[in-house]
Amino acid sequence: MPHMFVPGPVDVDPDILNAQTKPMLPHRSPEFEASFHGAIEKAQRLFYTQGRVFLFASSGTGLQEAAVRNLSRENILSCVNGAFGSRWYDVAVSNGLQAEKLEVPWGQPVTPEQVAEKLRDEPYDIITLVHNETSTGLQNPVEEIAKAVRAADPDTLICIDAVSSLGGTKIETDAWGLDMVLTSSQKCLALPPGLALAAVSDRAMRRAEEVPHRGWYFDLLRMEKHRLKDSTPATPAISLINALDAQLDRILKEGLEERFARHSAMAKRIHSWALKRGFDLFAQDGFRSQTVTTLKNLLDLDFQDLNRFLLERGMRIANGYGVLKNETFRIAHMGETRMEDLDILLTAIDEFIEA
Ligand code: PLP
Repeated sequence: MPHMFVPGPVDVDPDILNAQTKPMLPHRSPEFEASFHGAIEKAQRLFYTQGRVFLFASSGTGLQEAAVRNLSRENILSCVNGAFGSRWYDVAVSNGLQAEKLEVPWGQPVTPEQVAEKLRDEPYDIITLVHNETSTGLQNPVEEIAKAVRAADPDTLICIDAVSSLGGTKIETDAWGLDMVLTSSQKCLALPPGLALAAVSDRAMRRAEEVPHRGWYFDLLRMEKHRLKDSTPATPAISLINALDAQLDRILKEGLEERFARHSAMAKRIHSWALKRGFDLFAQDGFRSQTVTTLKNLLDLDFQDLNRFLLERGMRIANGYGVLKNETFRIAHMGETRMEDLDILLTAIDEFIEA
């Protein structure tokens, strides 16, 4: 199997793939409820929260929808400095909700000052912000922005998309005062796709009580009622939850701090390699992602040729996302990828360039 340096789905360890082959248990059985409970407790450590974590049978986008449907009474401030921030805005609008964009040039961070200024003009029910923009390889300063939101308007809920960073970079849900942090399984958690996780604050749950049409499948209040019984309202993705449980053991055994350090060492390595090689990095210095790097294709490499060359050697990288196709390409260093893997990849790209 080619080693995937694409930002999801990433390679899954064979033991974790195997965990999915356990026989099915009815989800209303005490045995399943015990393993569900255990997985949630471990997931709380990943989110750095003492509070609730929900598991949904969906991908991450489902939880972008859950956030806006459950937590917005009137209006949303959507921070957009990349493709996934833009998607979250589209999700809000397509649900008939009133959303306003705070647009920042792609590759530059959203700043606490920009957010504070917006909140000074008008109150917003929620702010949506992507922590790690997978399109541009940029990490927004969530902790600082959350502080600015709290100071400007304590009623504004802070919703964070951590789809391509949770489990790869430290995100302290409780300490930073975040109200909803969402992620999906196929990126930094190195699981197959199909499972989404969210940490949700008490404030956010109180807000949901004031929102009349939250939908059914993603209704957080309904989810909570069942979570308290170690279950979900509809049939959970049992095989994926078994894999999550096994993978969380693996992640906690590696150590969260050690895992984050592994990712930032790889980020440092690839950033310096790229600049030395004559590429530029799309994201502004000081705000570069620890889990995915977006390179400006200044050497004018033919991306298809490059990926074909890499595939022959058992590896694969990703083209630029959407409008950034060919002008950029992306190398993910998330999940179980190690420095030795990255070294092999970079040596192969060197070889391609020199050929
Ligand atoms: N948000 C970010 C930052 C992403 O990178 C992605 C997927 O690449 C999504 C949201 C959408 O997630 P999913 O594909 O799990 O729905």
